[in-house]
Amino acid sequence: MTRALPAVWHPFTQLQAFEPLGEVVRAEGAWLHLSDGRRVLDGIASWWVNLHGHAHPRLVAALTNQAAAFDQVILADFTHAPAAQLSAALAAVLPGDLQHLFFSDDGSTAVEVAIKMAWQAQRLTDPGRHRLVAFDGSYHGDTVGALSVGEKGPYTGHFDGLRLPVDFLPWDDADAAATFFRTHGHEVVAVIVEPMVQCAGGMRMAPPSFLAAVAQAAKAAGALLIADEVAVGFGRTGRLWGCDHADVVPDLLCVSKGLTGGLLPLGITAARPPVYEAFLGADKRSAFLHGHSYTGNPIACAVAVENLVVMRDERTVERLAAMASVYAAWTPPPGVHHVRWLGSLFAFDLVDPDPGYHNPIGRRFQAAALRHGLYVRPLGPVVYLMPPAVVTDDELRWALQILHDVAIEIAPSRTA
Ligand SMILES: *Cc1c(COP(=O)(O)O)cnc(C)c1O
Repeated sequence: MTRALPAVWHPFTQLQAFEPLGEVVRAEGAWLHLSDGRRVLDGIASWWVNLHGHAHPRLVAALTNQAAAFDQVILADFTHAPAAQLSAALAAVLPGDLQHLFFSDDGSTAVEVAIKMAWQAQRLTDPGRHRLVAFDGSYHGDTVGALSVGEKGPYTGHFDGLRLPVDFLPWDDADAAATFFRTHGHEVVAVIVEPMVQCAGGMRMAPPSFLAAVAQAAKAAGALLIADEVAVGFGRTGRLWGCDHADVVPDLLCVSKGLTGGLLPLGITAARPPVYEAFLGADKRSAFLHGHSYTGNPIACAVAVENLVVMRDERTVERLAAMASVYAAWTPPPGVHHVRWLGSLFAFDLVDPDPGYHNPIGRRFQAAALRHGLYVRPLGPVVYLMPPAVVTDDELRWALQILHDVAIEIAPSRTA
């Protein structure tokens, strides 16, 4: 008998022999409840979006209240309070004078918007520039523009022919960046960087001095700096923004994942006044002619407004920062390499040196951890945690103990 193939086309998944890990029927706090009665700790905050915990009552209330008031309305010709309030509230906490906020749908579109904004702003003011610059190991999303500024790899190989031309610089090499910008800086439209941590690229951390050096080199050359805070924003690294670690104010900043606390998709690209002002003019041709059907969705905006209030009331950034002290107390078992953490991010490598994303050890690790009640999704051989803030220190220590035990359980010598 041939097995019916699933109608749901799951992301990043070869479906030929696919079985889901389970069926979620309820999600509350840090826990996912499955149809067979199991409950599993959401160790990666459902792909890094869930900031506080699932089903936060205040966010759920903001969602239902706004849905009852009015749902999607066009933002091209009208304004509405949720978009206006969110713009003001977010601008008030973004670094420096990032105060002009453009709405889109997710992290990839926030990055697309930043690339197009940077490109058009330079076209309008300094049209000789033509280079986009990014870093080895980066990930900025899966749409074609966003994947072009990301590292080439097995996930993107089919699309090499679609890539925009991009110059890649080595990660965490301030001298290489300075040298490149001394030679080519006057040709650079923009450089895009994940502040402090390349998350999807394997939780690769760099010191604040690297981010500061990149920002300095770009500024001196008149190139725009795009900070992709989609993963690290909203306190994930123990500071509200990754840029805060180096006191950097980028020209453009992208947010999405934590923006609504994990309830609804929403992306925002924030711009400094010089970028915004480049688009002003007497006719429409200099305007930013870009938009999405659901631009500024009122329900998502209302949830994002409440998210910022909840973050303040519950001291979310402090909570995420405090996870580091629990991580620091972990004793790695033999066979675990490069243990690292920053705020709520914790990671280690199962294999040294890193043999790449398709190493199957991560999948074995996932299956074993799930049997203990912990959901993780290793990036190849890189195991990491990025839990919601609601997780308790005891739950964190329990999760770390599972990581410890599973690392021993699945060590290559046992399974060879
Ligand atoms: C997840 C991610 C994106 C893409 O966001 P989507 O919402 O998945 O489109 C972009 N940049 C970074 C740094 C990310 O982690």
